[in-house]
Amino acid sequence: MSIEECIAAIRNEINESVTLVAVSKTKPVEAILAAYTTGQREYGENKVQELVAKYELLPKDIHWHLIGHLQSNKVKYIAPFVNLIHSVDGLKLLTEINKQALKNNRIIDCLLQFHVATEETKFGLYQSEAIELLDSKEYTSMKNIRVVGIMGMASFTENESLIRSEFQSLKSIFHSLKESHFPGDNAFKEISMGMSGDYKIAIEEGSTMIRVGSTIFGSR
Ligand SMILES: *Cc1c(COP(=O)(O)O)cnc(C)c1O
Repeated sequence: MSIEECIAAIRNEINESVTLVAVSKTKPVEAILAAYTTGQREYGENKVQELVAKYELLPKDIHWHLIGHLQSNKVKYIAPFVNLIHSVDGLKLLTEINKQALKNNRIIDCLLQFHVATEETKFGLYQSEAIELLDSKEYTSMKNIRVVGIMGMASFTENESLIRSEFQSLKSIFHSLKESHFPGDNAFKEISMGMSGDYKIAIEEGSTMIRVGSTIFGSR
């Protein structure tokens, strides 16, 4: 199937309320332009340098998502244009995003990334750490970031019930934070979970945003 057909097939499977982020990392701008012709406007990249290069080359109505680990010293390169940062995993990073957003006279939307996989992955908050962050004076005084939800990755496994239970953990973290820190805040609504191998399970478990790469653009 072509890129266009793959996108159409996924859109057919998902409800309109679920945002499809096409993960274009390592793929050339031609591949993104092929997807663009179908109306796809949300794209995800995991490396700052690659994101900036593609931003400069591609149409300006694309919404760019940073989905990979972000180092504080690189925030400045994406702050002028990034649409959503999925991978906020600490107060230091959020502080820097706030600072760079202010410099650009913007409010940058962010997701808190959580660690739910049983396997040792390097990044993501535990719930207690997130609560500490959200309770901190620094966070409550930030004016140029907006936390709009959470993100997470399930274990890389064939074990469907494990994947499902990890997505359920993410959903329960979302609801718990919604109640404790974002009651009545309609902007806090996103659960970014689900990739090529597991997005169907993720949607069944309440995902609002799926990040799909290889099923659209082919293997990397
Ligand atoms: C690469 C990547 C994806 C997409 O992975 P696929 O399996 O190709 O769909 C999603 N989320 C993150 C954080 C990634 O790094």
